[in-house]
Amino acid sequence: MSDKVLVVTGGSRGIGAAVCRLAAARGYGVVVNYAGNVAAAEAVCAEIHSRGGEAVAVRGDVSSAEDVEHIFRAADRLGRLAGLVNNAGTIAPSSRVDAMDAERIARLFAVNVTGSMLCAGAAVRRMSTKHGGAGGGIVNVSSAAAKLGAPGVYVDYAASKGAIDTFTVGLALEVAAEGIRVNGVRPGVIDTDFHATGGVPDRAQQLAPSVPLARAGTAEEVANAILWLLSDDAAYVTGTTLAVTGGRAAAP
Ligand code: NAP
Repeated sequence: MSDKVLVVTGGSRGIGAAVCRLAAARGYGVVVNYAGNVAAAEAVCAEIHSRGGEAVAVRGDVSSAEDVEHIFRAADRLGRLAGLVNNAGTIAPSSRVDAMDAERIARLFAVNVTGSMLCAGAAVRRMSTKHGGAGGGIVNVSSAAAKLGAPGVYVDYAASKGAIDTFTVGLALEVAAEGIRVNGVRPGVIDTDFHATGGVPDRAQQLAPSVPLARAGTAEEVANAILWLLSDDAAYVTGTTLAVTGGRAAAP
């Protein structure tokens, strides 16, 4: 049994996988949640096990309340829940709003917003001192798109991340007196598979010259910020979202 378990949604690839590896190195038992890519999730777990860490891969769609319970029951079996990283997210191919259909918008909000809220609820029920828990940390993964709006390409995605920023503030205040800190990170252009899901696999390279630090970020650089927010070094930080953007849309 682990005395500090971290649930990482979308832990099989990209930013989530980097969070899982770093969290395991910092002593967390890690629930590596994934949607469908079992091979990627198992590879993350195998890497953690080879370094003496604890990890378990758990399939589940965060937009499903039933799947979320399944994910958190797996966490209960691993040990005491100490944190949640709401990282699972999706995007759809580039489109203007006047060409988006209801199904696309509903799916995007179901995963990015409803999924994060369902997971946070399950985590609070376990970590809140009000429920007999010992406290903990939640980090929501937003996006610089929340500030930029992503006109002409992903306004739906940007709006879903705007909702996440507001959710971070509200939940942080709701549970501040219950031992739980809630923060967010707002990644900029990060080199992961995510851009292929959005239909432009080399988007990170395309946008790199427009970043003040003149390059795309890495998943590990975002993971470093997330693990800092979860750590006691950030003990007086709650209700805020940190830009990890190389200077792009970096104003709060
Ligand atoms: P990624 O490499 O495409 O990985 C996405 C992860 O989310 C995968 O582990 C995937 O699981 C999982 N996932 C997708 N839908 C899910 C669902 N319904 N339930 C559970 N898991 C699900 O993406 P990434 O770049 O690491 O993105 C991670 C987060 O960062 C997202 O919230 C994204 O919006 C945000 N972000 C990314 C960037 C960027 O430039 N990359 C910038 C700003 C914000 P499978 O492996 O099973 O498919």
